Amino acid sequence: MVVVEKVKEMQKIIDSHRSEGKRIVCVPTMGYFHKGHLSLMELAREYGEIVVTTLFVNPTQFGPNEDFERYPRNFQRDFELAQSFGIDYLFAPKIEEMYPDNFYTKVIVGKFTDKFEGVKRPGHFDGVATVVTKLFNATKPDVAIFGQKDFQQALVIKQLVKELLFDIKIIVAPIVREADGLAMSSRNVYLSEEERKLAPRIFEALNLGIKAVQNGERRRKQINSIVLQHLRQFREFFIDYVAAVDSETLDEPEEFSPGQTVVILVAVYLGKTRLIDNVLVTVP
Ligand code: AMP
Repeated sequence: MVVVEKVKEMQKIIDSHRSEGKRIVCVPTMGYFHKGHLSLMELAREYGEIVVTTLFVNPTQFGPNEDFERYPRNFQRDFELAQSFGIDYLFAPKIEEMYPDNFYTKVIVGKFTDKFEGVKRPGHFDGVATVVTKLFNATKPDVAIFGQKDFQQALVIKQLVKELLFDIKIIVAPIVREADGLAMSSRNVYLSEEERKLAPRIFEALNLGIKAVQNGERRRKQINSIVLQHLRQFREFFIDYVAAVDSETLDEPEEFSPGQTVVILVAVYLGKTRLIDNVLVTVP
């Protein structure tokens, strides 16, 4: 595996592979790899001969009171894991490479950014869309892999690609969970022992939502309140939002229709740690 820090060098490498007719797959990440990231890298191999994982903790997608400074980082560990997964290139630019002085451009995606994460984390998706655009231009992939874990982000990226005419196929990979159901996340290391014990209740609550839909519940507010009720039993959770919505549009009808795929989105604080999770369920 080759580590690349410079955009120009990355582009040159990719151009030479492309001229050999190789397909390029990109897996954007902020590092501190867990099995969720690794599942994306594994999946990437199925889509092309050259796999580039990008490792960049993107400052512009963090709010001023968020965890950019303390976000977990361990380059050596990430390097070894990516190498052991047969990644061809680890693109790990420094901040100055991605955001030199006098950087004024922002990519703003509409519609999917005006709810949930977009509202709770103002500017977050502008940072995501801007950095993903730059990472796409640096790695020029045919295919890029994102996780369902960041459900709204995946929709935003799909829309960005469609509307800005990127010739890139976006694949969304399923959520990898710990044995007790907690969705894997780099931020899970923030959790105290007590918080870590409570965290699987999030997936438990989501499963109650799934069950309700499968048992015939179609009323959106009712689905939300089943999930909320479960979480509210544990006063350690501060609930940011719980929302059952259409999985393609994020629309919130009073009642879902048979055949419609619903995503139940959750964001909660456990102490100072903000966790997000979601599940998909199709209305019978
Ligand atoms: P991050 O490093 O947290 O920005 O995540 C990089 C990519 O990995 C994003 O596309 C995430 O959605 C995806 N991802 C994060 N956690 C998981 C997980 N538990 N299962 C699958 N994919 C994940």
